[in-house]
Amino acid sequence: MWNHEDLEAREAEQLHRLGLRARDSRGRRVPESADPLRTCFQRDRDRILHSSSFRRLQHKTQVFPAATGDHYRTRLTHTLEVSQMARSACLALGLNSDLAETVALAHDLGHPPFGHVGERALHRRMREHGGFRHNAQGLRIVDCLEASYAGRTGLNLCWETRVSLLKSKIPPDFPIANDLPRTTTPYLEGQVVDLCDRIAYVSHDMDDAIRSGLVAWEAFADLELPARSLATILRRYPQLADGGSPDSSRLLRVQTVSAMISILVQDIVHATDERMERARDLRSPEAVREQRAQIAAHSRECRLELTRLVDVLRERFWQHPDVLYATGEATERMSRLFEHILQDPDLLPGRFRQRIDGDGLERTVCDYVSGMTDRYVDQQTK
Ligand code: MG
Repeated sequence: MWNHEDLEAREAEQLHRLGLRARDSRGRRVPESADPLRTCFQRDRDRILHSSSFRRLQHKTQVFPAATGDHYRTRLTHTLEVSQMARSACLALGLNSDLAETVALAHDLGHPPFGHVGERALHRRMREHGGFRHNAQGLRIVDCLEASYAGRTGLNLCWETRVSLLKSKIPPDFPIANDLPRTTTPYLEGQVVDLCDRIAYVSHDMDDAIRSGLVAWEAFADLELPARSLATILRRYPQLADGGSPDSSRLLRVQTVSAMISILVQDIVHATDERMERARDLRSPEAVREQRAQIAAHSRECRLELTRLVDVLRERFWQHPDVLYATGEATERMSRLFEHILQDPDLLPGRFRQRIDGDGLERTVCDYVSGMTDRYVDQQTK
């Protein structure tokens, strides 16, 4: 039998010197005794997995509003894809795959309904009150909004998990806990999650774009990454080329996306491994955080190809009139619901109402509305 001390010892022995070891954690805001079987990062992972914010991801938009079709990605399936890629990449690099999984499962917890259109609307509404960013909101959720435990709010996660949720810019007056820096270079595990987040949305959005019929395969055919992935699959399964069976175009699309994910994850592993090799003067995970530049990266060629692919997705899919109309209309309803609750705070559930004195009315309404699912906003406004 392995107890948590055995697991910690195994980490200490096997991880790369730049991988974060659970036994080096700074611990939790409210100290707790160790779990008998799990390391502290495994315990954080399970707390996230069992939280209600995590379950709500299944009814939140990735690109299409979450109620649109059974096979399009939602925030939940996106999150699981990121988590699996980040685990694989971190295992290969000798980094802490438990921490990577934990950070990946939490990375989109703060996303409001209706994706980035919903996020921008909330930021505009909250501009005078600290603004809104989904990553910073994720931290508020795990620190103070998730209510799953008697006697405390929040999930009381380890400092390293919490700081790993702080990627990119946070509005200057957005309220986050004061034991965290407002800007930081992530640990290597967080850097890998960030890259996998991009791989996941680029590849599954390409898949969803073609599946939906809004964008034809031809829009991607001249780009190196999709073209190379398609060629790999046709070499392996030449029978898919003739389009003879009713299922061949679907299989071809699915397999091409899968090949593209493999190429991109392997690229991260090779490029990052080389850069970790070169960073001989860095002796610890903390030294990684003190660097301005990130170590985890794609190769130059893949980075350029990914940028081209993102440009096509933005122009043809994310900004497609049908997508913008669906999310724009829904976001307007969300905004009206925000104002309605602001006028009548008694509509807030009791546990939110009691936060008004400390957080202010606007922030409390924002916390409540941003936590809603697409489905819940639809039910309240249609
Ligand atoms: Mg994401």
